[in-house]
Amino acid sequence: MSIRIENLTHIYMPNTPMESLALDNVSLEIEDGEFVGLIGQTGSGKSTLIQHFNGLLKPTSGKVIVDGLDLADRGTNLKEIRRRVGLVFQYPEHQLFEETVFADIAFGPRNMGLEGEALEERVREAMEMVGLDYATLKDRSPFDLSGGQMRRVAMAGVLAMKPKTLVLDEPTAGLDPRGRDEILQQIKELHQRFGMTVVLVSHSMEDVARLVDRLLVMHRGKLVLTGTTREVFARAEYLRQLGLGIPQVTELARRLREHCADMRVDILTVEEAHEAIRAFLRQKRGKVHA
Ligand code: ADP
Ligand code: MG
Repeated sequence: MSIRIENLTHIYMPNTPMESLALDNVSLEIEDGEFVGLIGQTGSGKSTLIQHFNGLLKPTSGKVIVDGLDLADRGTNLKEIRRRVGLVFQYPEHQLFEETVFADIAFGPRNMGLEGEALEERVREAMEMVGLDYATLKDRSPFDLSGGQMRRVAMAGVLAMKPKTLVLDEPTAGLDPRGRDEILQQIKELHQRFGMTVVLVSHSMEDVARLVDRLLVMHRGKLVLTGTTREVFARAEYLRQLGLGIPQVTELARRLREHCADMRVDILTVEEAHEAIRAFLRQKRGKVHA
């Protein structure tokens, strides 16, 4: 499974006074099993980009190729592509509409022809994947649940289609810290336990630093930087020019470096910072005693 984007340009409302160039000649590739983060300021084109991954938006020019299938080819079955590449929109709970949690999650698989026990099994599995208890929640109204639970019902609706790739647009937006941690933990498990390819659009540098392997950075419709998370966060100055930050622990390490040339600065997590600061302190003490 791979997603390949070649020279993708997207213009909203072309040839009108409201014309807007949302994607400007973007090329990228996402390999099977990767966990990729997509960052960039508001309006940089992230949501527009990911809606091309499953054919929801059509390129103004350029190509989108999923599993070797060009989405613009007449022979390509877009329904099948949408099943393979599951897209969880921003605030997906706004798209819940059925009377029960079960009916909402069952909607997609039912349309695919699943029924009876096979359908129940599918819904149960999808709920389990996002940490929702089937027995206690299946008959509840989704609208009686907490914000975090509603969001997980919406995610389960996408997972019930058994996609190989899951694309999430700011899945933690608007949740409290606990809801945020829970959702991120679920996403991490989907990647680790089920080997899903995950694309995570996020505003939080801390979250992507903790979770993803590789980052794509958008700016004004262009893909301006890609690399491992470590490589990208090593470009603090450039990111600042783009209006983006770096994780706080990475910033802390950079400041300590001013006092100690040996301080590691490619720090991404609190655990790494802990180790590096201990080494830094040991070295400082060594110098004082010398
Ligand atoms: P992001 O997700 O990074 O915030 P978007 O992809 O939503 O960025 O937006 C990229 C650009 O396209 C912005 O300038 C935005 O105003 C414009 N845009 C997004 N959606 C639409 C739309 N439906 N119609 C017209 N312009 C849009
Ligand atoms: Mg967006």
